[in-house]
Amino acid sequence: MTDNSAAFFAHTLASWFAACGRDLPWRHSPTPYQVWVSELMLQQTQVATVIPYYNKWMAQFPTVESLAKASLEAVNGLWAGLGYYRRARYLHQGASVVVDHYGGCFPSDISELQKITGIGAYTAGAIASFAFGMDVPAIDGNAERVISRYSGIYGDLSHGDPRRRIEDFAQHVVQIAGGAVINQAIMDLGATICRKKADCDKCPLQSQCYAYRNGLVEALPQKKAKSPKWLEYRSALLLESSDHRYLVAMPKSDALLGNLWVFPMQTIFREREDASDAKHRADASTRQSRKTLWQRMLSDLNPALTQVVPMPTKLEITHIFTHIRMHILVDIAKLTQPAQLLECAGGTYEKYAWLTRDQILTSPISTMMKKVVLRMPEIT
Ligand code: SF4
Repeated sequence: MTDNSAAFFAHTLASWFAACGRDLPWRHSPTPYQVWVSELMLQQTQVATVIPYYNKWMAQFPTVESLAKASLEAVNGLWAGLGYYRRARYLHQGASVVVDHYGGCFPSDISELQKITGIGAYTAGAIASFAFGMDVPAIDGNAERVISRYSGIYGDLSHGDPRRRIEDFAQHVVQIAGGAVINQAIMDLGATICRKKADCDKCPLQSQCYAYRNGLVEALPQKKAKSPKWLEYRSALLLESSDHRYLVAMPKSDALLGNLWVFPMQTIFREREDASDAKHRADASTRQSRKTLWQRMLSDLNPALTQVVPMPTKLEITHIFTHIRMHILVDIAKLTQPAQLLECAGGTYEKYAWLTRDQILTSPISTMMKKVVLRMPEIT
């Protein structure tokens, strides 16, 4: 990196940001709480999707104190549809840490910020620079992509010399143009122009960009070898009472989909994704073991459910989590008793409820669960 190159980057991008930066609701006089909420929401989620959720969130939980006082159910309810529910849990837990340990005021120190649940190095940099006006970098995947292309940084950007070069460059440019401006400018350039498929003809940095000048835009940043996802087949049971309510269960808070309502599910198998005969084995395995699996589980919850015989349906839902490709094979069983006679307890779930389809749709549920509920009319 030369000083000229960093100066060109900082000044050019700052001017571009003044003219073309995005007007986002969390950028109007941001507080640390607003930056934190918006950054958590923006992880893995597009800006256009986040905006209405952010506005609703701020209307319901305008301060960190109001969030700390809320129930996790209310928090999850507001988050429903955004996916990656762990983020909502982090916000809820982190709010208690801010209230209990910092008297409701976020610390401005980067290492203190990282003691709060849900705040890593990037989010700490974003809070410190946007809300406290500090000249510190905030390096996320967008920043890594922009800087590695502009400066020609090869290799794995997460550690070693490539990491040090990314951090040195980011540190240098925040000193020139200011943390709040340059971090947001990099963020916007990465989100709108220097995307994975870059639109270099619109880029203000084009004349000095290493990747553009050397025909390496698609080659940088270099990709890390990814370990394959897990492939998981589960069976879900739609157990319907005579008064048209369905048994739903809530996984424990530290489990996948914790604190959200799901239909009772059992794992058929889980392995690395490259298994080509998985679908066939899942079908065979479900056919052979479904009745035994469900009867064992249901009799633990309520003896009246011992004789339930689930029927297989053709409904199969696929949902991709960060590390898991999950296939849900949906079974159904109709009961002759009303829900009020079928209270359930025990088993691997935290709690159970009998809800109508409409009640399920307005309860805290994951995107995966919503896919199943929306397709219920095909099989009920
Ligand atoms: S010229 Fe292209 S590759 Fe270089 S920073 Fe701009 S958009 Fe990214």
